[in-house]
Amino acid sequence: MFIFDAHNHVWESGKKDTIGDCMCICNGTKPADWNDVKQLGMAFPENVIPFFGVHPWFVDTITDNWLSELKEYLPVNQSGIGEIGLDGSSLRRKNMRKQERIFTSQLEAAAELSLPVSIHCVSAWGKIVSILRHFYPQVHAAFMIHSFSGSEEIMNELVKLGGYFSFSFSLMRDKSEKIRRCLEHVPVDRLLLESDSSQSPDSYRDQMVRLYTAASGIKGIDLHEMYRLILRNGSVFTNRITPRQRGS
Ligand SMILES: [Zn+2]
Repeated sequence: MFIFDAHNHVWESGKKDTIGDCMCICNGTKPADWNDVKQLGMAFPENVIPFFGVHPWFVDTITDNWLSELKEYLPVNQSGIGEIGLDGSSLRRKNMRKQERIFTSQLEAAAELSLPVSIHCVSAWGKIVSILRHFYPQVHAAFMIHSFSGSEEIMNELVKLGGYFSFSFSLMRDKSEKIRRCLEHVPVDRLLLESDSSQSPDSYRDQMVRLYTAASGIKGIDLHEMYRLILRNGSVFTNRITPRQRGS
């Protein structure tokens, strides 16, 4: 049984020997990453779904032709766009206008090419909801908020736009009551689980099993059913299951 990992950076580990044990969405965060992500996606087409994007932390490092370069990568192996987003935390918010511009350009590319996106959002929930409302649900592909840490109200707004919500190991930390409540109430067809890891999959497999176990307890869903559910949600999110196959 594959453990589906909805958001990671496993290409950074440089280790390939255990990639075949997982199925994952593997993200780049800046143009310098994209070739490595592409190579991993091509080496493991059944296991690795490559996502290419400019993360809000790196918007000041890109050159003028970043967007055309991004579009050259996007036909690779049923790829998507990520990790992209907004970070309004105190250390990161000084270039918020630029973050918004780069984020919006990538959403325009996702709309144009009907591709799924993986979104990072910290302390910028109001802005992200208003930007996403401009695009969704009209885009013929979905977005997910990775390592979701917003409020239940924000989650409900984004559910209306067709959003998916991926929960990470932070679910298992103390003081995770708010995140647990969101997981409890997220619609089952919008739920994803992730490691956000840069290590090789064998090094965090046990933690993933604990995350799946915690989520299955909170949702009241049998653990094996949870494995199937997340694999299916991930496949629908990444358009690997077509609307006809999923019967809608
Ligand atoms: Zn990440």
